[in-house]
Amino acid sequence: MALTLLRGMRTPISFRSNSGLLFTVLRPRLSRFTTRAESAQATEPKAAPKSIQLATKEAAEQKTQGFEAVIGIETHVQLSTVTKAFCSCPYNYGSQPNSTICPTCMGHPGALPVLNEKVVECAVKLGLALNCEISMISKFDRKQYFYPDLPKGYQISQFDIPIAKKGYVNLDLPVEFGGGHRKFGITRVHMEEDAGKLLHSESGSYSQVDLNRAGVPLLEIVSEPDMRTGIEAAEYGAELQRIVRYLGVSNGNMQEGSLRCDVNVSVRPVGQSEFGTKVEIKNMNSFSEINRAIDYEISRQIMLHKEGQADQIVQETRLWDESSQKTFTMRKKEGLADYRYFPEPDLPEVVLSTDYIDEISKSMPELPEAKRRRYENMGLSMQDVLFLANDDNVSHICLVT
Ligand SMILES: [Zn+2]
Repeated sequence: MALTLLRGMRTPISFRSNSGLLFTVLRPRLSRFTTRAESAQATEPKAAPKSIQLATKEAAEQKTQGFEAVIGIETHVQLSTVTKAFCSCPYNYGSQPNSTICPTCMGHPGALPVLNEKVVECAVKLGLALNCEISMISKFDRKQYFYPDLPKGYQISQFDIPIAKKGYVNLDLPVEFGGGHRKFGITRVHMEEDAGKLLHSESGSYSQVDLNRAGVPLLEIVSEPDMRTGIEAAEYGAELQRIVRYLGVSNGNMQEGSLRCDVNVSVRPVGQSEFGTKVEIKNMNSFSEINRAIDYEISRQIMLHKEGQADQIVQETRLWDESSQKTFTMRKKEGLADYRYFPEPDLPEVVLSTDYIDEISKSMPELPEAKRRRYENMGLSMQDVLFLANDDNVSHICLVT
């Protein structure tokens, strides 16, 4: 049993059971949030002629000639727990503003946080799914900054001891993007709480604060800078979405902000070991936008290099504008923010036992990568393997041999 030193229990969330086997083929319902590859499968002709794909690929390689991009992604996953991370308020997307709040998530003086056990369970599940080392003892820290949607003046997060670290994720690129297997490193997974939301008036003359989201549990997944193209990054994000959906820890819905990706992109001459200046891109609502935003940003940076204006690549946050298909500056960074982290004094350490981790491990469903390999070993084509394993609407099909 769990040896977690928790001061409270919450109503358990019901995880989707994956043990029930379906023997009928479910009709795939088009997800609103599809990868470029998935949407290509769904809405475009089955496959463009090979020559066009090759020409596109060659054109892309031509453009990056002499340079390579280095891409890392920070992903925030909002957990589908019944209650928030440190209080008993529920959270339902779209609720009346400020209707699910209490002194704890509003940050009233003297209110004390109580850890929701389900957050730890979800973190361990995701950590195991991402092949991470799980920390037997971890702790929470205060990350301090001022923002109007953060009344406490700090966010409860994890700093030097994340609950999971040093993992990796395996994925298969869609056939139409050249196919192939990829393995990307996971630096860490840590638990933290979300902030509230600012609602800006149409005139722009005032903003309102909605604290419903304050205190909602998040897992932040930090990748190693292992990706080199927009499609690799988009497929990495899509694989994380599949994993959290398979595990039932989050709905992974990008439009509602349940899965948010911040992408760091830099370019460097091929053969150079040190990284170039990295630019952060935010504001992407789908994996196809991630793909396009990164490819645009790579081209922009390479062009500046080629024109001898590499000094114009500065550390900054850029936003993706879908209508113009360009990134533009949101804010320049003046150096690393100092959040003055220190251990959260109102929460005990999170202490796990091997029995607890083993129990969670045994309860895990078959994950996308294992499913793909199983289908591949059954002799299915990679296109069929990806269709069956990657769409969570058809992922529960049991093929009878
Ligand atoms: Zn609350």
